[in-house]
Amino acid sequence: MTSILTSIRNWAASSLPSLQLTVLDEVKVVQVQAAALREIADFLDSQSWVSVLLVVDANTYNAAGRQLERLLLEAGIRTQVTQLLPDRKGDVIADEASLIQALLDIQQSGSQVVLAVGGGTIHDISRYAAYTTGIPFVSVPTAASVDGFTSRGAPIIVRGEKKTIPAIGPSAIFADVDILMQAPTELTAAGFGDILGKHTSLFDWMFGHLAAEEPHLQIAADMTAAALRDCVQAVDQIAGRSEEGIRILMEALIQSGLAMLLFGQSHPASGSEHHLSHYWEMEYIRQGEKQLLHGAKVGAASVEIAKLYHHIGENGLIHTADHADVQRPYSERIARHWDVIRRNIAAIPPPSELSDLMRIAGGPASVSELSIGDELLNRSLREAHKVRFNRYTLLHAYNVGDIRLRKS
Ligand SMILES: [Zn+2]
Repeated sequence: MTSILTSIRNWAASSLPSLQLTVLDEVKVVQVQAAALREIADFLDSQSWVSVLLVVDANTYNAAGRQLERLLLEAGIRTQVTQLLPDRKGDVIADEASLIQALLDIQQSGSQVVLAVGGGTIHDISRYAAYTTGIPFVSVPTAASVDGFTSRGAPIIVRGEKKTIPAIGPSAIFADVDILMQAPTELTAAGFGDILGKHTSLFDWMFGHLAAEEPHLQIAADMTAAALRDCVQAVDQIAGRSEEGIRILMEALIQSGLAMLLFGQSHPASGSEHHLSHYWEMEYIRQGEKQLLHGAKVGAASVEIAKLYHHIGENGLIHTADHADVQRPYSERIARHWDVIRRNIAAIPPPSELSDLMRIAGGPASVSELSIGDELLNRSLREAHKVRFNRYTLLHAYNVGDIRLRKS
């Protein structure tokens, strides 16, 4: 069986110069299979790493950490465990307390590598701590919940503000399908939601490229689109959490992550649906509310963005400079490409289809099921483009008045 890493490398090699592929070489091994935990000791041995730190929380220690600790100790590898503690709301978050806890344990144990055993947040803490102490990290996902396992950026929360700090990607990924199949349904559904959001992120990327000449890489777009297609086709298997369904979802998440790595920025996988999700997340941080799952927010946000985009596609009119004093550099390009843009909007599935898919996958199918109220939803639709102001999405164009709706 060809590994996902080999097939992606071969695919990318068909259209990119070898220099651009070197970024993929940083990830030495990607295993998505049953009993992948058992392969980790051999990999560590091949790298001559004899002392490791496992970063876990209480749930992921039970799900995989304890078993991995035993396997590594049996293989003669010095193994220490950092169990991160939840905050008062019961969330493990990538804040100062968690980061210092991981950093101190790395320093005191003299570990040569960090193993992130868990979901997105444990990965963020591990990658930042590993990067800061100058050692590598290895990804051991315990749920197919996000596409950020291969990310180089670490979103961390400092004094209540979220910032993304450049860090490192994993040296290897060991995704044990036996463990992923046991993950709570809402985490798997969140992973599906993160993938479903690619309908709008891929649209926004194409739009930004046409309207604002944002950089574009077709192979990264194709890889992301293929990951999306595979998951939608397998939604019943994913919902049933069959071995095949979970493998397809996890490989799609990794493929989406590698597409971002190849492109060098998050455009393929993150458009206005992610900006909406980040806006809600920051609001929840400010309010001290318990956090919602990233992919659950992205899934629900993509339903709302699809709704707005179809509306714009049907009623949008290019803003022609009616005020001589307002500079609208992108309006002319939007006008020139409007037919293509409108066709691509029409190709985004209708919001009801996206909700149905989220429901089948077992996740919240709408913002109301996530308990996002109307006030926050409407404010976020008006302001979410400011989360990433330098990225030109259709939401951005609409909110700054480069596109207006026809008067009814
Ligand atoms: Zn995401």
